[in-house]
Amino acid sequence: MLLSDAEIERYARQLVMPELGEAGQTKLRAARVLVLGAGGLGAPVIAGLAGAGVGHLTIIDDDIVDITNLNRQFIHQTNRLTVPKTTSAYDFIRQLNPDISVTCQQVRFDALNADALASGHDLLIDCTDNPETRYLANAVCQQLGMPLIFGGAVRSDGQITSFVPNNPKSPCLRCIFPQTSLDYDQAPNCANAGILGSTTMVIGGLQTAEALKIIANFGTPLIGRLLLFDGLANSFTEIEVAPDPACPVCGNG
Ligand SMILES: [Zn+2]
Repeated sequence: MLLSDAEIERYARQLVMPELGEAGQTKLRAARVLVLGAGGLGAPVIAGLAGAGVGHLTIIDDDIVDITNLNRQFIHQTNRLTVPKTTSAYDFIRQLNPDISVTCQQVRFDALNADALASGHDLLIDCTDNPETRYLANAVCQQLGMPLIFGGAVRSDGQITSFVPNNPKSPCLRCIFPQTSLDYDQAPNCANAGILGSTTMVIGGLQTAEALKIIANFGTPLIGRLLLFDGLANSFTEIEVAPDPACPVCGNG
């Protein structure tokens, strides 16, 4: 279906790009994206996708807005402390772009509900901060054949890559981070190690770019490439990552 006059006006600054155009914008409008986590990475991802006109967003988060979130989670506001992040995110999206549809679920993405929550989407963006949820999202995406955009950030550093099931060049999360018995309490996290909002904006911005490229089929997504960001030097390092044929999730292991 063609874009309306209102859509042509709202998205004019990206429609003019030949990489996207009306055909790409129509794909964005038809897309259903699941954003796991409305925190540091989720904030720029949610703002970026809503602004760009991705037609349906599902936001999953079980947390409430805390004052310590606000150095980086810019979709939430000081007057919304103790409100569920999903409610705050919903209100932000409605204000930014009333033309897209939004579903918010204040639940924890776990082994019991993961399949049902992820089904019916075209893409999952992992904006969580715990390994258990990340591995679960990875397994579900592999099962459903759904692309997964992985991002992580701690202190001033971050990393990002995209996993696309059935693409022979694409590993999955377990291929490149095989260890599953992590001591979760010992892993550095935002609370004990710190986190800069500038870094979550960089990684969340790149996750948004990956989503737009994969949905509208332009540019070169980070498939088989893990991009590391050093926020102190403001430098990037790219590592080639390959599928592991013995991977228990996506291979024959
Ligand atoms: Zn794998």
